[in-house]
Amino acid sequence: AGTLYVVATPIGNLQDLTPRALEVLRSVSLIAAEDTRHSARLLQHFGITTATTACHDHNERDKSARLVERLLAGEDMALISDAGTPLISDPGFHLVRQAREAGVRVSPIPGACALIAALSAAGLPSDRFSFEGFLPAKAHGRRQRIEALAAESRTWMLYEAPHRLLECLEDLLDILGPERQVVLARELTKTFETIRGAPLAELAEWVRNDPDQQRGECVLVVEGAPQSTDEDALDPAAERVLDILLEELP
Ligand code: SAM
Repeated sequence: AGTLYVVATPIGNLQDLTPRALEVLRSVSLIAAEDTRHSARLLQHFGITTATTACHDHNERDKSARLVERLLAGEDMALISDAGTPLISDPGFHLVRQAREAGVRVSPIPGACALIAALSAAGLPSDRFSFEGFLPAKAHGRRQRIEALAAESRTWMLYEAPHRLLECLEDLLDILGPERQVVLARELTKTFETIRGAPLAELAEWVRNDPDQQRGECVLVVEGAPQSTDEDALDPAAERVLDILLEELP
């Protein structure tokens, strides 16, 4: 059987396509792309003439079966999305799953990923973190999700569409309070790359007052809730007893 390569493509700066990605995209017999017209620009730029086929959210389940047949017949194939790493808030899950279930070798060609790029530059704890993808587009669902995340102690990250950024920040401010530190990473690897961290009240105000900040692609990196110190903390009754005892000490 052939190999399915899961290939990361740039999230802005075309120089971020790795030499190995180039080699694989040139050598496979077919590239399954989220949007073939979008990827045509990237492929043209690098002079890659490999055939492409569409594999996106709407056809992926059916399409995957046919692609897996071709893999089983011995063809090597690459999976790419419009930008960054496939399967990370992008199509590819069904294809990768079906390929693995069929016993096809699946090999990642790592590269750009907006969430990892943002986390690596945010300066918030990164030893453990949670990626929450896109929040629901409607206000009610979005607020519910933020409420469910309010007590999360790990750093957590969101993808957001530019036209919803301000609404999202207002909801975060409302639910998490003005002090929570959030880093907004915009237009990573592009000309107007901006990474700004501030307490939520300040960050929301900055975005509210500067429409330029409401354009382009962005990632939000949210500081985790302060760790509860339950184990060390004394309950109030014990605290009072301790105060009385301490007063009696010589
Ligand atoms: N698969 C991609 C990856 O590996 O990052 C993510 C695809 S998802 C459909 C698109 C979202 O990723 C955008 O809405 C934005 O939140 C984030 N994103 C992509 N490129 C970005 C960039 N250059 N700077 C900041 N965020 C970016």
